Order: sequence, then C-alpha cells, then structure tokens
Amino acid sequence: MRGVKKSDLPTKICLVCGRPFTWRKKWEKVWDEVKFCSDHCRQNKKIIDLKSRYS
Ligand SMILES: [Zn+2]
Repeated sequence: MRGVKKSDLPTKICLVCGRPFTWRKKWEKVWDEVKFCSDHCRQNKKIIDLKSRYS
C-alpha cells in the first residue's frame, strides 16, 4: 500500500437504489461501466428500463 485511504477510493451512486457505493477491486477494469452497487440492483435495472420507457 502507498498510504491510500479508504476515502480516496472513487464512489458512484447506484442507479437503482440511489445509494453511494465504493470502488471495488473486482471492478478495476470495468469501473466506467459500473452503474449498480450489487448484482441484486443490476437485476432490478430491468424494472427501471420498463419505467423509463413510458416516461
Ligand atoms: Zn444499488
């Protein structure tokens, strides 16, 4: 480690639940594409797609 604090990690807001989530090692190559905090929210994305289609 090079003195990286936890608060220095990038965060995003989950499009489904609206909560902030923090960068994870498993996302290091796809972080730009990550929009959901969990697989559970990613699956719920389908619901948002259906809603936005009619708005
Ligand atoms: Zn979420």
